[in-house]
Amino acid sequence: MKTIMKVDIRTRIASAPSPALRQAETAVQNLNTRTGRPDTAVDRSGNSFLIVSFGSGENAALARAWIAEAAELGQVQWLTFSEINAETRRQLRQALASSLNGVRIMIVGRQFDVLQTVALARAAGALEKEVLSLVTNAVDLPIYCAHCRATSSVVGGVGDVVTCPACDRTVEIHAHLSGVRGSYLASDALARELP
Ligand SMILES: [Zn+2]
Repeated sequence: MKTIMKVDIRTRIASAPSPALRQAETAVQNLNTRTGRPDTAVDRSGNSFLIVSFGSGENAALARAWIAEAAELGQVQWLTFSEINAETRRQLRQALASSLNGVRIMIVGRQFDVLQTVALARAAGALEKEVLSLVTNAVDLPIYCAHCRATSSVVGGVGDVVTCPACDRTVEIHAHLSGVRGSYLASDALARELP
């Protein structure tokens, strides 16, 4: 079994040594500090749960483990998708809008899908402590391009220089993660060299 580390994603990414290692590791993003029961991801103070998983294999298996535990505590809804896209977003918004007050939202998948889903949940009014997410593959991440204002998935990490898929500019990925947008700010890497 893979060990699941509980760390703050902002810290983890800032100190991640290489894309290969980032890809290999499994980490829990848990923005509030949880105390007690370190072995479980399910917030046992919840009485309804919305579980969202992306992809099959390991991610679906983790979701099933959460479901088994959450089912003992209350009502559970499971949404599973291959990736986040326009249709996924529509279904997620619908589920979030109809979920009960105080629902615990648990998300597992690739970094791009997870961060975008966390942002949707927060936009729908979920509190930080009500959302728990698990990134099982951090090889990609969402960037928000300061120039074309598009949100895109790129392979890379903070500090890397990449090509914005939307406008083709060479952009640098900054450490600033916007919780509202669910993406990292990226801006022109060559701007400082311009006259
Ligand atoms: Zn762009």
